[in-house]
Amino acid sequence: AIILGIETSCDETAAAIVVRDQSGRGTIRSNVVRSQLDEHAAFGGVVPELAARAHVEWLDHIIAQAIQEAGIELCEIDAVAATAGPGLIGGVLVGLTTAKALAASLDKPLIGVNHLEGHALTARLTNGVAFPYLMLLVSGGHSQFVLVRGVGDYERWGGTIDDALGEAFDKVAKLLSLGHPGGPALEHTARLGDPKRFKFPRPLLREDRLDFSFSGLKTAVRLQAEALAPLSDQDVADIAASFQDTVAHIVGYRARQALERFSTLFPTEPIRLVVAGGVAANRRIAETLETPCHEFGAELIVPPIALCTDNGAMIAWAGAERLALGSSDSLAIAARPRWPLQDETMQVKRHGT
Ligand code: ATP
Ligand code: MG
Ligand code: FE
Repeated sequence: AIILGIETSCDETAAAIVVRDQSGRGTIRSNVVRSQLDEHAAFGGVVPELAARAHVEWLDHIIAQAIQEAGIELCEIDAVAATAGPGLIGGVLVGLTTAKALAASLDKPLIGVNHLEGHALTARLTNGVAFPYLMLLVSGGHSQFVLVRGVGDYERWGGTIDDALGEAFDKVAKLLSLGHPGGPALEHTARLGDPKRFKFPRPLLREDRLDFSFSGLKTAVRLQAEALAPLSDQDVADIAASFQDTVAHIVGYRARQALERFSTLFPTEPIRLVVAGGVAANRRIAETLETPCHEFGAELIVPPIALCTDNGAMIAWAGAERLALGSSDSLAIAARPRWPLQDETMQVKRHGT
């Protein structure tokens, strides 16, 4: 099936054409992403109203470009998939309403995709990963371990009780004046720094639960920066490197616990850890995950960076997986600002049942 995927839940306006063949293999025919970085740069973060307006302005062009780059005609599409949540509601409404209009006018099925399911299933598109697998989702809005049993079948094993990891990167980068988005800038700066210079706290780590807490760490970094002010370039690099090392240690430690739980639960299954979300782009964090994976004989799967951050291909693919199971949505489906993966509405409902 040929699926158009639309993503507008945050600050990327994105559309893609993905083809899923009979054997379940996916091919990306086009994947167009327009980031709104410039619109939001002056504000040091994403402004929801500006984001929604930019999606309105650009989405039609981005879809047209995705169709054109795929070398198909609009009428050849078999279904339209769009993010229906979670995310900034104005943006989600722009994408979902456009998808409804296209689906209605082409008389093709509509699939309202959970953005997090898009991140969760990407590794099946890029690496053909089989169920079940363990996912570490680390993005701008989420940080959690999820057991992925099947399409729509997710079990959250723990996650952040305050800031998301990407958010922590962004906030620390902001207080070091590294610009927005902070994650890539902070990683770049950290290369020149001494990761051992500062010892930052590792909240919650002594407790035996798969949760994260990053807000106290962020405060400790801020206090350190204030104590040293004015900061030299070396100070900034050392703080960035020490912060990054601390979070990498925390994530690696928790991953070991999660892998242990997975291997106990599925003693005869191959063990796979899939990293999803924008923070998966961080080399230091990916490297840190190699050690526990090696220990458990687990395969570590990190999709290409362009598919870890927000894009239309992951939404098209999640839609394709659902469509293949006979599931689609009515045109009455609502946009949802909040929509946890383990929500009962995620279960695949076959059409007409
Ligand atoms: P969500 O998917 O939870 O709704 P989102 O869509 O905003 O959130 P993504 O697009 O998946 O998040 O990822 C963006 C986040 O990833 C940002 O917080 C960004 O700083 C972070 N990030 C990107 N590259 C890196 C990097 N190299 N190191 C650390 N963080 C990074
Ligand atoms: Mg984004
Ligand atoms: Fe995302």
